[in-house]
Amino acid sequence: AKAAGRGKHCFYEASMHSEASDRQLLENDLRGAIDRNELSVVFQTIVRAASEEMAGFEALVRWQHPKRGAISPAKFIPLAEECGMIGRIGEWVLNQALAAARGWPENVRVAVNLSPIQFNDPKIVEIVDAALKVSGVKPSRLELEITEGVFLADSDVTDGTFARLKELGVRLALDDFGTGYSSLGYLKKAPFDKIKIDQSFVRGAASRSSRNAAIIRAIVTLAESLDMDTVAEGVETHDDLQLMRDLGVSQIQGYIFGRPYGVEEATTLAESKSVE
Ligand code: C2E
Ligand code: CA
Ligand code: CA
Ligand code: CA
Repeated sequence: AKAAGRGKHCFYEASMHSEASDRQLLENDLRGAIDRNELSVVFQTIVRAASEEMAGFEALVRWQHPKRGAISPAKFIPLAEECGMIGRIGEWVLNQALAAARGWPENVRVAVNLSPIQFNDPKIVEIVDAALKVSGVKPSRLELEITEGVFLADSDVTDGTFARLKELGVRLALDDFGTGYSSLGYLKKAPFDKIKIDQSFVRGAASRSSRNAAIIRAIVTLAESLDMDTVAEGVETHDDLQLMRDLGVSQIQGYIFGRPYGVEEATTLAESKSVE
Protein backbone atom coordinates (compact mmCIF):
# COMPACT_ATOMS: atom_id res chain seq x y z
CA ALA A 1 0.00 0.00 0.00
CA LYS A 2 2.92 2.37 0.69
CA ALA A 3 3.89 2.65 -2.94
CA ALA A 4 0.37 3.46 -4.16
CA GLY A 5 0.73 5.72 -7.16
CA ARG A 6 -0.89 8.99 -8.06
CA GLY A 7 -4.67 8.82 -8.20
CA LYS A 8 -4.79 5.35 -6.75
CA HIS A 9 -6.57 4.38 -3.61
CA CYS A 10 -4.48 2.88 -0.88
CA PHE A 11 -7.03 0.68 0.74
CA TYR A 12 -8.56 -1.61 -1.81
CA GLU A 13 -10.37 -3.54 0.89
CA ALA A 14 -11.72 -0.31 2.35
CA SER A 15 -15.43 -1.09 2.23
CA MET A 16 -14.86 -4.20 4.37
CA HIS A 17 -13.72 -2.32 7.42
CA SER A 18 -15.14 0.82 8.99
CA GLU A 19 -11.84 2.32 10.11
CA ALA A 20 -10.39 1.78 6.67
CA SER A 21 -13.45 3.23 4.96
CA ASP A 22 -13.20 6.29 7.16
CA ARG A 23 -9.67 6.76 5.90
CA GLN A 24 -10.95 6.24 2.39
CA LEU A 25 -13.49 9.04 2.88
CA LEU A 26 -10.83 11.32 4.32
CA GLU A 27 -8.50 10.47 1.43
CA ASN A 28 -11.18 11.45 -1.09
CA ASP A 29 -11.77 14.73 0.74
CA LEU A 30 -8.03 15.47 0.91
CA ARG A 31 -7.67 15.07 -2.86
CA GLY A 32 -9.74 18.20 -3.45
CA ALA A 33 -8.69 20.13 -0.37
CA ILE A 34 -6.15 22.43 -2.08
CA ASP A 35 -8.53 23.34 -4.90
CA ARG A 36 -11.31 24.05 -2.40
CA ASN A 37 -9.02 26.34 -0.41
CA GLU A 38 -9.27 24.21 2.72
CA LEU A 39 -5.52 24.05 3.33
CA SER A 40 -3.57 26.91 4.84
CA VAL A 41 -0.10 27.48 6.21
CA VAL A 42 0.66 28.91 9.65
CA PHE A 43 4.02 30.05 10.97
CA GLN A 44 5.60 29.36 14.34
CA THR A 45 8.46 31.53 15.57
CA ILE A 46 11.96 30.19 16.15
CA VAL A 47 13.91 32.62 18.34
CA ARG A 48 17.55 32.90 19.34
CA ALA A 49 17.89 31.56 22.85
CA ALA A 50 20.17 34.27 24.22
CA SER A 51 18.75 37.45 22.68
CA GLU A 52 15.18 36.35 21.90
CA GLU A 53 15.63 37.85 18.43
CA MET A 54 13.64 36.24 15.68
CA ALA A 55 15.62 33.63 13.77
CA GLY A 56 12.77 32.48 11.55
CA PHE A 57 9.46 30.71 11.30
CA GLU A 58 8.52 27.09 10.71
CA ALA A 59 5.73 26.68 8.15
CA LEU A 60 3.07 24.22 9.33
CA VAL A 61 0.16 23.08 7.19
CA ARG A 62 -3.44 23.19 8.41
CA TRP A 63 -6.57 21.54 7.02
CA GLN A 64 -9.96 23.00 7.82
CA HIS A 65 -12.38 20.26 6.81
CA PRO A 66 -15.86 21.63 5.94
CA LYS A 67 -17.67 19.05 8.10
CA ARG A 68 -15.07 17.69 10.53
CA GLY A 69 -13.37 20.96 11.40
CA ALA A 70 -9.60 21.20 11.91
CA ILE A 71 -7.74 17.97 11.15
CA SER A 72 -4.22 17.62 12.52
CA PRO A 73 -1.31 17.30 10.08
CA ALA A 74 -0.17 14.41 12.28
CA LYS A 75 -3.22 12.62 10.85
CA PHE A 76 -3.50 13.84 7.25
CA ILE A 77 0.21 14.10 6.31
CA PRO A 78 0.75 10.32 6.75
CA LEU A 79 -2.41 9.77 4.70
CA ALA A 80 -1.09 12.07 1.97
CA GLU A 81 2.20 10.17 2.03
CA GLU A 82 0.50 6.81 1.62
CA CYS A 83 -1.85 7.92 -1.12
CA GLY A 84 0.51 9.73 -3.47
CA MET A 85 -0.65 13.23 -2.53
CA ILE A 86 2.27 14.49 -0.47
CA GLY A 87 4.21 15.78 -3.48
CA ARG A 88 1.48 18.18 -4.51
CA ILE A 89 0.64 19.25 -0.95
CA GLY A 90 4.30 19.69 -0.03
CA GLU A 91 5.05 21.77 -3.12
CA TRP A 92 2.04 23.94 -2.37
CA VAL A 93 3.25 24.49 1.23
CA LEU A 94 6.75 25.32 -0.05
CA ASN A 95 5.37 27.95 -2.41
CA GLN A 96 3.12 29.46 0.27
CA ALA A 97 6.00 29.57 2.74
CA LEU A 98 8.38 31.26 0.29
CA ALA A 99 5.72 33.78 -0.75
CA ALA A 100 5.33 34.69 2.94
CA ALA A 101 9.08 34.90 3.50
CA ARG A 102 9.40 37.35 0.62
CA GLY A 103 7.51 39.85 2.80
CA TRP A 104 9.81 39.42 5.81
CA PRO A 105 13.15 41.05 6.65
CA GLU A 106 16.12 39.40 4.93
CA ASN A 107 17.52 37.92 8.14
CA VAL A 108 14.33 36.01 8.98
CA ARG A 109 14.42 32.45 7.65
CA VAL A 110 11.59 30.12 6.75
CA ALA A 111 11.69 26.42 7.62
CA VAL A 112 9.62 23.98 5.55
CA ASN A 113 9.02 20.31 6.35
CA LEU A 114 9.96 17.90 3.60
CA SER A 115 8.46 14.43 3.73
CA PRO A 116 10.88 11.57 2.99
CA ILE A 117 8.74 10.78 -0.04
CA GLN A 118 9.24 14.30 -1.40
CA PHE A 119 12.95 14.14 -0.62
CA ASN A 120 13.33 10.93 -2.58
CA ASP A 121 11.49 12.27 -5.62
CA PRO A 122 14.16 12.52 -8.35
CA LYS A 123 12.75 15.97 -9.23
CA ILE A 124 12.99 17.44 -5.72
CA VAL A 125 16.03 19.63 -6.39
CA GLU A 126 14.38 21.13 -9.48
CA ILE A 127 11.15 21.67 -7.53
CA VAL A 128 12.95 23.53 -4.75
CA ASP A 129 15.05 25.52 -7.23
CA ALA A 130 11.96 26.54 -9.23
CA ALA A 131 10.07 27.56 -6.08
CA LEU A 132 13.01 29.70 -4.94
CA LYS A 133 13.24 31.40 -8.35
CA VAL A 134 9.51 32.14 -8.52
CA SER A 135 9.60 33.67 -5.04
CA GLY A 136 12.87 35.55 -5.39
CA VAL A 137 13.81 34.44 -1.86
CA LYS A 138 17.53 33.86 -1.32
CA PRO A 139 18.27 30.11 -0.97
CA SER A 140 20.13 30.70 2.32
CA ARG A 141 16.84 31.87 3.88
CA LEU A 142 15.17 28.51 3.23
CA GLU A 143 15.68 25.71 5.72
CA LEU A 144 14.39 22.26 4.81
CA GLU A 145 13.40 20.09 7.78
CA ILE A 146 13.99 16.42 7.18
CA THR A 147 13.49 13.38 9.37
CA GLU A 148 15.52 10.20 9.46
CA GLY A 149 12.90 8.57 7.26
CA VAL A 150 14.80 9.87 4.23
CA PHE A 151 17.64 7.48 4.94
CA LEU A 152 15.48 4.40 4.53
CA ALA A 153 15.56 4.81 0.75
CA ASP A 154 18.38 4.11 -1.75
CA SER A 155 21.45 5.69 -0.21
CA ASP A 156 23.18 6.77 -3.46
CA VAL A 157 20.11 8.75 -4.50
CA THR A 158 19.81 10.21 -1.02
CA ASP A 159 23.47 11.26 -0.85
CA GLY A 160 23.22 12.90 -4.28
CA THR A 161 20.14 14.86 -3.26
CA PHE A 162 21.85 16.19 -0.14
CA ALA A 163 24.80 17.38 -2.20
CA ARG A 164 22.64 19.06 -4.83
CA LEU A 165 20.46 20.80 -2.24
CA LYS A 166 23.58 22.15 -0.54
CA GLU A 167 24.80 23.39 -3.96
CA LEU A 168 21.54 25.32 -4.30
CA GLY A 169 22.46 27.05 -1.05
CA VAL A 170 19.52 26.00 1.12
CA ARG A 171 19.97 24.97 4.75
CA LEU A 172 19.15 21.52 6.08
CA ALA A 173 17.78 20.66 9.51
CA LEU A 174 17.45 17.18 11.02
CA ASP A 175 13.99 17.14 12.60
CA ASP A 176 12.75 15.15 15.61
CA PHE A 177 16.33 14.31 16.58
CA GLY A 178 16.68 11.49 19.06
CA THR A 179 13.49 9.63 18.21
CA GLY A 180 14.81 7.43 15.42
CA TYR A 181 17.06 4.44 15.20
CA SER A 182 20.46 5.58 14.07
CA SER A 183 20.69 9.34 14.33
CA LEU A 184 24.43 9.48 14.87
CA GLY A 185 25.24 7.62 11.68
CA TYR A 186 23.05 10.01 9.72
CA LEU A 187 24.82 13.02 11.18
CA LYS A 188 28.06 11.62 9.81
CA LYS A 189 26.59 11.09 6.35
CA ALA A 190 24.62 14.22 5.63
CA PRO A 191 25.53 17.93 5.68
CA PHE A 192 22.99 19.21 8.21
CA ASP A 193 23.20 22.81 9.42
CA LYS A 194 20.88 22.29 12.36
CA ILE A 195 19.56 19.69 14.77
CA LYS A 196 16.03 20.02 16.10
CA ILE A 197 15.92 18.34 19.49
CA ASP A 198 12.66 16.42 19.76
CA GLN A 199 9.93 17.67 22.09
CA SER A 200 9.97 14.41 24.02
CA PHE A 201 13.36 15.40 25.50
CA VAL A 202 12.46 19.05 25.95
CA ARG A 203 8.94 19.39 27.29
CA GLY A 204 8.94 19.42 31.08
CA ALA A 205 12.69 18.74 31.21
CA ALA A 206 13.21 21.24 34.03
CA SER A 207 10.81 19.42 36.34
CA ARG A 208 11.85 15.89 35.42
CA SER A 209 14.86 13.81 36.26
CA SER A 210 18.18 15.21 35.19
CA ARG A 211 18.43 12.50 32.51
CA ASN A 212 16.62 14.70 29.94
CA ALA A 213 19.02 17.54 30.67
CA ALA A 214 22.03 15.24 30.36
CA ILE A 215 20.85 14.03 26.94
CA ILE A 216 20.20 17.56 25.70
CA ARG A 217 23.63 18.66 26.96
CA ALA A 218 25.23 15.83 25.00
CA ILE A 219 23.31 16.73 21.83
CA VAL A 220 24.42 20.37 22.15
CA THR A 221 28.07 19.35 22.59
CA LEU A 222 27.83 17.07 19.56
CA ALA A 223 26.16 19.75 17.43
CA GLU A 224 28.72 22.38 18.40
CA SER A 225 31.63 20.15 17.51
CA LEU A 226 30.03 19.47 14.11
CA ASP A 227 29.34 23.21 13.68
CA MET A 228 25.58 22.82 13.71
CA ASP A 229 22.90 24.96 15.37
CA THR A 230 20.47 23.41 17.84
CA VAL A 231 16.77 24.11 18.32
CA ALA A 232 14.78 22.93 21.33
CA GLU A 233 11.21 22.18 20.23
CA GLY A 234 8.20 22.21 22.54
CA VAL A 235 9.37 24.79 25.09
CA GLU A 236 6.24 25.79 26.99
CA THR A 237 7.44 27.08 30.38
CA HIS A 238 9.94 29.60 31.72
CA ASP A 239 11.70 26.86 33.67
CA ASP A 240 12.26 24.82 30.51
CA LEU A 241 13.36 27.96 28.63
CA GLN A 242 15.92 28.74 31.33
CA LEU A 243 17.18 25.16 31.31
CA MET A 244 17.61 25.21 27.52
CA ARG A 245 19.63 28.43 27.82
CA ASP A 246 21.76 26.94 30.60
CA LEU A 247 22.41 23.88 28.43
CA GLY A 248 23.58 26.09 25.55
CA VAL A 249 20.78 25.36 23.05
CA SER A 250 21.06 28.04 20.36
CA GLN A 251 17.41 28.47 19.33
CA ILE A 252 14.00 27.96 20.90
CA GLN A 253 10.64 26.99 19.41
CA GLY A 254 7.53 26.46 21.47
CA TYR A 255 4.27 27.75 22.83
CA ILE A 256 6.15 29.98 25.28
CA PHE A 257 6.78 32.28 22.28
CA GLY A 258 3.37 31.70 20.81
CA ARG A 259 1.24 29.32 18.82
CA PRO A 260 1.65 29.31 15.06
CA TYR A 261 0.47 32.58 13.43
CA GLY A 262 -1.34 33.37 10.22
CA VAL A 263 0.74 35.01 7.50
CA GLU A 264 -0.25 38.63 8.29
CA GLU A 265 0.50 38.30 12.00
CA ALA A 266 3.77 36.54 11.24
CA THR A 267 4.82 39.34 8.92
CA THR A 268 4.01 42.03 11.50
CA LEU A 269 5.96 40.11 14.12
CA ALA A 270 8.93 39.56 11.78
CA GLU A 271 9.14 43.29 11.17
CA SER A 272 8.98 44.22 14.85
CA LYS A 273 11.16 41.51 16.40
CA SER A 274 14.02 41.01 13.99
CA VAL A 275 17.26 42.90 14.27
CA GLU A 276 19.29 43.72 11.15
P1 C2E B 1 7.00 18.89 13.58
O1 C2E B 1 7.65 19.15 12.26
O2 C2E B 1 7.85 18.31 14.66
O3 C2E B 1 6.38 20.29 14.02
C1 C2E B 1 6.30 20.74 15.35
C2 C2E B 1 4.94 20.46 15.93
O4 C2E B 1 4.96 20.72 17.32
C3 C2E B 1 3.82 21.36 15.36
O5 C2E B 1 2.61 20.60 15.41
C4 C2E B 1 3.78 22.48 16.40
O6 C2E B 1 2.55 23.20 16.40
C5 C2E B 1 3.98 21.69 17.67
N1 C2E B 1 4.52 22.52 18.75
C6 C2E B 1 5.37 23.55 18.66
N2 C2E B 1 5.66 24.06 19.87
C7 C2E B 1 4.99 23.31 20.77
C8 C2E B 1 4.88 23.35 22.22
O7 C2E B 1 5.48 24.17 22.91
N3 C2E B 1 4.09 22.41 22.79
C9 C2E B 1 3.41 21.49 22.07
N4 C2E B 1 2.64 20.62 22.73
N5 C2E B 1 3.49 21.41 20.71
C10 C2E B 1 4.27 22.32 20.08
P2 C2E B 1 1.65 20.48 14.14
O8 C2E B 1 1.58 21.78 13.42
O9 C2E B 1 0.38 19.86 14.63
O10 C2E B 1 2.40 19.47 13.19
C11 C2E B 1 2.58 18.12 13.54
C12 C2E B 1 3.52 17.42 12.59
O11 C2E B 1 2.90 17.35 11.28
C13 C2E B 1 4.82 18.18 12.34
O12 C2E B 1 5.72 17.92 13.40
C14 C2E B 1 5.25 17.56 11.03
O13 C2E B 1 5.81 16.30 11.21
C15 C2E B 1 3.93 17.42 10.31
N6 C2E B 1 3.72 18.57 9.42
C16 C2E B 1 3.15 19.77 9.67
N7 C2E B 1 3.16 20.56 8.56
C17 C2E B 1 3.78 19.84 7.60
C18 C2E B 1 4.10 20.08 6.21
O14 C2E B 1 3.85 21.17 5.63
N8 C2E B 1 4.75 19.07 5.54
C19 C2E B 1 5.06 17.88 6.14
N9 C2E B 1 5.69 16.95 5.41
N10 C2E B 1 4.78 17.62 7.43
C20 C2E B 1 4.15 18.58 8.15
CA1 CA C 1 9.41 20.22 11.63
CA1 CA D 1 10.00 18.22 15.15
CA1 CA E 1 22.15 30.13 13.70
